Amino acid sequence: MAFLEVKNIVKVFDKQTALNDVSLEIEKGEFISILGPSGCGKTTLLRIIAGLEKPSDGSIFINGKDCTELDSSKRNFGIVFQSYALFPNMTVEQNILFGLEQRKEVSKKERVERCREVLEMVDLYEHRKKYPFQLSGGQQQRTALARAISLKPEYLLLDEPLSALDAKVRSKLRTEICNIQKKLGITTIMVTHDQEEALTMADRIVVMNNSVIEQIGTPGEIYRNPKSAFVADFIGSMNIYREGKHIYGIRPEKIIMSSMSIDGMENRPGTVTNIEFRGATTRVYGECDDRKEICVDLMSDEVSEIDFNKGDRVVFNYTKDDIVSYLDEEVV
Ligand code: ATP
Repeated sequence: MAFLEVKNIVKVFDKQTALNDVSLEIEKGEFISILGPSGCGKTTLLRIIAGLEKPSDGSIFINGKDCTELDSSKRNFGIVFQSYALFPNMTVEQNILFGLEQRKEVSKKERVERCREVLEMVDLYEHRKKYPFQLSGGQQQRTALARAISLKPEYLLLDEPLSALDAKVRSKLRTEICNIQKKLGITTIMVTHDQEEALTMADRIVVMNNSVIEQIGTPGEIYRNPKSAFVADFIGSMNIYREGKHIYGIRPEKIIMSSMSIDGMENRPGTVTNIEFRGATTRVYGECDDRKEICVDLMSDEVSEIDFNKGDRVVFNYTKDDIVSYLDEEVV
């Protein structure tokens, strides 16, 4: 039995359908990421799981119990928002103790112990006497996380928790959140529009678009075997071509550039139109002789060995096995 079951959920706001028959099963201890473009229904789904929003139709089961009508306050979850939502007039320690004090069953001794335990877990114990304004964004978000887990919730909801942070801090916090999640074994659902975040953190990704789930799978499955043209285009980069009813996709890193056609591969002669250095990789843009555009990702070390420039004539080669194809009906 799944720990959390979302069954045929529909949510309509006025005339706007935010969720259209969404079903999903989450196992205990899983880290699930809900990924999709702005307005696809991610936050609405998270809010329904939290009980902060009532569905128009469908049910939510937690541990096999129908919780669809259960008030948010009666559901045992912790939540972390993009905006941290800390009390500004309370220290780090007071922010955490405040939530614990609402739980009358937890003794004072245990509250102090738990506060210390979670602050050590997020590496903030030495900052416990500081106020939110004295902390960096990353430290504020770690405080919010410590506060959420201090209540020992059954599940953890993360709503774009890293979006407000700069790239370095974001990457460090990703690892920290994953480590804590695995250590506690806590079922976690994170909403994000950042594919890299979903790919690096989640056990399984739920890709949403236009109020429906497009695909559910491990990061590897979603990347290697996207089930629709939308997923193919949304996750990673994809060269996409239309031919009649069919759509073909080829990942930029699957293409080999050469001065002559490579035998046994699909060969598309063309011209280099731009070269973009991206650090470890370099993206090369080209125009094939059939006027279609193409982009190729190469390891930067290889590029310096190959030595080509804008305007050079080249051949773009790839194998048939690396082509993904879809029927046009699936395009959005
Ligand atoms: P974002 O990444 O921009 O936060 P999202 O994927 O989380 O987007 P939702 O916030 O779930 O999307 O919204 C889904 C749709 O439902 C949108 O079209 C939105 O305008 C609409 N919607 C959400 N909340 C409400 C509301 N309270 N009243 C009316 N419409 C709403």
